[in-house]
Amino acid sequence: MNRICFFDTKPYDRIYFDLLKEQYNIEVEYFEPKLGSKTAFMAKGFEVVVAFVNDKIDADTIDILYENGTRLIAMRCAGYNNVDFKHAFGKIHVVRVPAYSPYAVAEHAMALLQTLNRKTHRAYTRTRDFNFSLNGLTGFDLHGKTMGVIGTGKIGRIFIDICKGFGMNVIAYDPFPLKDTDIQYVSLEQLCRESDIISLHCPLTKDTFHLINNNTIAMMKNGVYIINTSRGALVNSEDLLEALKAEKIGGAGLDVYEEETELFYEDMSYSIIKDDILARIISMPNVIVTSHQAFLTKEALHNIAETTLLNCRGYYNNKVLSNEVCYQCSKGEACPKGQNEKCF
Ligand code: NAD
Repeated sequence: MNRICFFDTKPYDRIYFDLLKEQYNIEVEYFEPKLGSKTAFMAKGFEVVVAFVNDKIDADTIDILYENGTRLIAMRCAGYNNVDFKHAFGKIHVVRVPAYSPYAVAEHAMALLQTLNRKTHRAYTRTRDFNFSLNGLTGFDLHGKTMGVIGTGKIGRIFIDICKGFGMNVIAYDPFPLKDTDIQYVSLEQLCRESDIISLHCPLTKDTFHLINNNTIAMMKNGVYIINTSRGALVNSEDLLEALKAEKIGGAGLDVYEEETELFYEDMSYSIIKDDILARIISMPNVIVTSHQAFLTKEALHNIAETTLLNCRGYYNNKVLSNEVCYQCSKGEACPKGQNEKCF
């Protein structure tokens, strides 16, 4: 039986792996800490390590894993901005789960917008206290408003369909626009100028780091809403905070935050939060923060477990690592995959 270890696991994701592990002939060891240079030693003797979005898979971590025998890192997520691919190349293969439920994330983005706009989070707490006042709960019709979607990949496209279902006018920006589609592509500048709501669905790369910043915010309509279910560092949080304080941005629905690594997924309710920007952002009545939970549906968790275990089985059977990513193909550049069936 093949043994693999998991970092950064919680009860809600373990159950889906436990349900499938026998079928895949895999013995699992769950570690609660995040993977990083201080915890990588725990994987000693494990050829396959399963990691997650907020693990820090930098050069030091990769060296420790490699020295201790790890040859495959199986990301149980789609994004991989936390992996130093260049350093891993030639030493450790990296696979991921490219799609598990784009619906889960797109639906959560709309849930954030709906809650933010119609203030149901505030109504819920009010009526529990028998406060039936409507003061301050006025929203706006989504019908007829312009939604600007940045990134028209798997999630962005589903989100566009959802918005169209609400009767919204949708415009989109993507440097790699889809062909044969009725999506109305515009420049980033036009999107910023014309959108009533902007929703981010692009990956975090050097090009998209702090895509939402003072300059892009200045182009936006007064009172624009920002929804971010992609990656925290797409938004410069300091600039977002200033724009919220100046009432330039009318509301923000954030499932991700650029400094989330040490906070999200943990119960910090007894701690003094040292991050003043996050604390101030969360204190705003027109902000909703969820803890990187957009993916969290039963369907997504099942699919994540299944594809991760298939990826691991593919590695053990020495078959094609179809979900492998390396520093070349992760940027759309050519890599040897396809010729010798692995990136290296
Ligand atoms: P995808 O790869 O299918 O689509 C990404 C799209 O972004 C592509 O069309 C690409 O061309 C576009 N893009 C690339 N660079 C861009 C740029 N500079 N500006 C605008 N668009 C650009 O990815 P996906 O499955 O739709 O996922 C999108 C993102 O959602 C992921 O990168 C990940 O960060 C995030 N995500 C979050 C959660 C969550 O739980 N919050 C879960 C899954 C994915």
